[in-house]
Amino acid sequence: MMADGSLPRDMRAMVLDRPGSPLVLRRIPVPSPGPGQVLLRVGACGVCRTDRHIIDGDLAHPKLPLVLGHQIVGRVAATGPDANFAVGARVGVPWLGHTDGTCRFCLSDRENLCTEPAFTGYTVDGGFAELAVADSRFCFPVPETYDDAHAAPLLCAGLIGYRAYRRCGPDAARIGIYGFGAAAHIVCQIAVHEGREVYAFTSPGDIETQEFARSLGAVWAEGSDVAPPVELDAAMVFAPVGPLMVAALRAVDRGGRVVSGGIHMSDIPSFPYADLWEERTLTSVANLTRADGIGLLSVAPAVPVRTEVETFPLEDANRAIADLVAGTVRGAAVLVP
Ligand SMILES: [Zn+2]
Ligand SMILES: [Zn+2]
Repeated sequence: MMADGSLPRDMRAMVLDRPGSPLVLRRIPVPSPGPGQVLLRVGACGVCRTDRHIIDGDLAHPKLPLVLGHQIVGRVAATGPDANFAVGARVGVPWLGHTDGTCRFCLSDRENLCTEPAFTGYTVDGGFAELAVADSRFCFPVPETYDDAHAAPLLCAGLIGYRAYRRCGPDAARIGIYGFGAAAHIVCQIAVHEGREVYAFTSPGDIETQEFARSLGAVWAEGSDVAPPVELDAAMVFAPVGPLMVAALRAVDRGGRVVSGGIHMSDIPSFPYADLWEERTLTSVANLTRADGIGLLSVAPAVPVRTEVETFPLEDANRAIADLVAGTVRGAAVLVP
């Protein structure tokens, strides 16, 4: 930062030049906020499995070159015309960066399915940088009880988890969670707080994560190769492993729901119709609505949800993503520029 407090002309950022190559540390110009936008000094930016999928080319047509990162917590350093926040405000920026507001999905409270969206850190630049611009209409105030690093995982892991959890249905008393990473560790606390029983499924043999799940209130935690002791009312699948969708379908009772929270997943193997029979549902959640964000950010401090984070310096983004995918991060990985 410049000593007189004015904005610098350029900044450090981790940049994706093309899918299949690692992120590179580079100095790039500081973006300037347009109408409705804010410029943020990034305090923390969460790392997500989606970042890996973008780097690997699993998600089509990213902006290139691209600054990834879609769980940004920062302070407003400058505003464009008609911005919703003032200089100095602390805000969170989620994956949903913009919608057209006019398509039939936006007009029916399903802006998460907008046909002309922008996604932070994918189709527009995100927060793996010292500064970032965002459409202020899609930013949220961040609860004061969280510091920047601990708030960051709420903005994707938390939001996707929360949307998946609500899609399990209000009457689901016994809920399975397949893949106990960043999203699961947040939503587990909310589910337990609301009186649900949580059954956690980890990679076979991952005793440490099973203990972590129990410490957050799960009544049962085992490898995903083990059948639960009861029939579940619903299950959420956060690991990007198609066969787990079938395993979850077999673990839910008649009428049960299986909800995938992933944006990308390996193929789901074929399975006998009997596994789907009796009104079982296989579904997914995509993106988020602003109502999800407002809902989660009021529920989280009330529970209160405690996020567990491992922080990395900005220039270690590649290592943070690798550790996240390898499953060695407990809770969520967060970059602190
Ligand atoms: Zn994400
Ligand atoms: Zn739309």
